[in-house]
Amino acid sequence: MEALKGLCTVVMPEARLREFAFQHAVDLNSDNALLEEQPQRIAAAMETRRRWPVGMTLRVHFLAGERAVQHRVEEIVAEWSQHANVQFVFGAGPEAEIRISFNPNSGSWSYMGTDCSLSQLAGRPTMNLGWLTPTTPLVEYRRVVLHEFGHALGLVHEHLSPAAEIPWDEAKVLNYYRQTNGWDEAYTRSNVLARSKADAYTRFDPHSIMLYPVPRELTLGGFEIPWSNSELSALDKEFIGQIYPFPA
Ligand SMILES: [Zn+2]
Repeated sequence: MEALKGLCTVVMPEARLREFAFQHAVDLNSDNALLEEQPQRIAAAMETRRRWPVGMTLRVHFLAGERAVQHRVEEIVAEWSQHANVQFVFGAGPEAEIRISFNPNSGSWSYMGTDCSLSQLAGRPTMNLGWLTPTTPLVEYRRVVLHEFGHALGLVHEHLSPAAEIPWDEAKVLNYYRQTNGWDEAYTRSNVLARSKADAYTRFDPHSIMLYPVPRELTLGGFEIPWSNSELSALDKEFIGQIYPFPA
């Protein structure tokens, strides 16, 4: 099964790496320890905190992709740096923290924050932008690139807000993630179907770039959340500025 267009996945390191991933996150930024008390038991993205150090320069490397596509991605990503004290540099080589592939069959996904620089993932993509081609409309570039780099900065999906109740067709969701990602039921439940425990949500923001797009193929009654937000919302800008503040 190909990745459904509109669905985005936060990829978590495999189970045997979870404790290591927690330690790696804390080594880089001690604030990451605040949320996790038993890292070996954590199975869901929303219960983890993977923020980079404030002021960090993140290196980005393209593993593939046409130059025209890469260039558009670069231009859009810079926008996060206007609101967050984090810089992105491109053309950094394979040692880069963020490594991007363009596999057309695997949709849009990213690892979250500091998980990207786990040594066990070296040489492998940390983000896939499978829907972008030289002819993709700019608005589509914006919603996909700003969203996926939000994950790379450590943001989770806005739909985890208790306010966003989604009538999932659970059997279809479980089947989808088993086929596309090899996830077992418990893993899919904790990362997709679970109700939020919430990290640092303010209020549900229907304009957030991190709002989870929900394809109707996986819901009951034709429910869908179209991937319509293509700009950073006021709250996105405020929130990322709190996570990565500029010097006063
Ligand atoms: Zn996402």
